[in-house]
Amino acid sequence: MNRRTFLSSGAVASVTAAGLRPRYIRAAQLASQHGEIYKKLGVRPFINAAGTYTILTGSIMPEAARRAMVEASRSFVRLEDLQKAVGERIAKLLGVESAMITSGGAGSILLATAACVTGTDPEKIRRIPNLDGMKDEVIVPREHRNGFDHAARTVGVKLVEVETSDDLHRAIGPKTAMLYFTNIFEPKGKIKRAEFVAAGKQAGIPVFNDAAAELPPASNLSSIVREGFDLVGFSGGKGIRGPQSSGLLLGRKDLIQAALLNNNPNEDAIGRPCKVGKEEMMGLLAALEEYVRRDQEADMRLWRGFMESVAKDLRGISTVTTEVYVPGPGAHPIPYLRVQWDENRLNLKYGDCAKQLRDGDPSIEINAGEQGLNLASYNLYAGEERIVGFRLRGLLRQAAKGA
Ligand SMILES: *Cc1c(COP(=O)(O)O)cnc(C)c1O
Repeated sequence: MNRRTFLSSGAVASVTAAGLRPRYIRAAQLASQHGEIYKKLGVRPFINAAGTYTILTGSIMPEAARRAMVEASRSFVRLEDLQKAVGERIAKLLGVESAMITSGGAGSILLATAACVTGTDPEKIRRIPNLDGMKDEVIVPREHRNGFDHAARTVGVKLVEVETSDDLHRAIGPKTAMLYFTNIFEPKGKIKRAEFVAAGKQAGIPVFNDAAAELPPASNLSSIVREGFDLVGFSGGKGIRGPQSSGLLLGRKDLIQAALLNNNPNEDAIGRPCKVGKEEMMGLLAALEEYVRRDQEADMRLWRGFMESVAKDLRGISTVTTEVYVPGPGAHPIPYLRVQWDENRLNLKYGDCAKQLRDGDPSIEINAGEQGLNLASYNLYAGEERIVGFRLRGLLRQAAKGA
């Protein structure tokens, strides 16, 4: 698309006509060139200022991952050889005992649970989710229960909820197959991670940590295993920016071996529907190699700059306040922007504002709640922050005028 066709295209024409400063046009041009392939289908792409949600298609892959996927798509390899080689490369890269590629964070939960229930016993691997005579309990802190634990229940296990460390010790018994932690919910629960790990070690029961979206910092990729969690799962398509249908399972060699036996391409295995192709494997490896090498401080500065730019665009509008912040434990440590105003005085509800951004051109996704708007920096292309600030300023100024 050249500058002329770009300027006449709906998306940016409206923005530029309304006065986006010329030096931002190039940035806006780059930002809105994407997504033709979706538009042809009648599916509207959007600027993602909401975050790395799977339902919003996670994150955007770096060029290295895209190239790796295309190259991988050109030849045949034995899938098991590839899984093994990629796993070894990743284990070395991250300094963990063993690693494998899964179909995503949820795939990692399923395979971790299956591995802890069956070990490498081929008879058990064939029989699950019928667990007659097998260990069929997984212990989980009550506050960690979440929709993704369906992936554990798929294996046939019962989730036994506990609240305190005492509960945990009492609940552990001959039926316990696994202890199941969800990293982001630690602050909500009473049991701290070290106690949880220690309880597993003491009883000889593997401890799994679902850390699907716990990146950045990249150091989590190795530090959670080093803390003593026997298995740790990550989503490949969120923080790592790998293919959306990929994930990682890291940890103890014997358990990763058991997870591989429960996984595709084995046909009579519970993980067979969680297929991961050669393209995803090579794409995730490339994304990961780039991710661990990135200058994370520079990324943080860039993202903070995006949020500050939007905040600046909203200065001076009646009752509007902004705050750039990095949330503490229990949320993702990247820069966010909170935008609040007096909903009565401005006659614009937070939810309606989000809807107008979504329905407008280009479409913009943000989070809106009772406490205001929340914008995430992670998924913005450079330049898009200008469009977000401009559009938001327009809506808020309009609302202020009518007040
Ligand atoms: C996103 C997420 C998952 C699922 O990850 P996918 O890669 O989408 O399968 C599981 N657990 C948590 C805590 C998540 O945030």
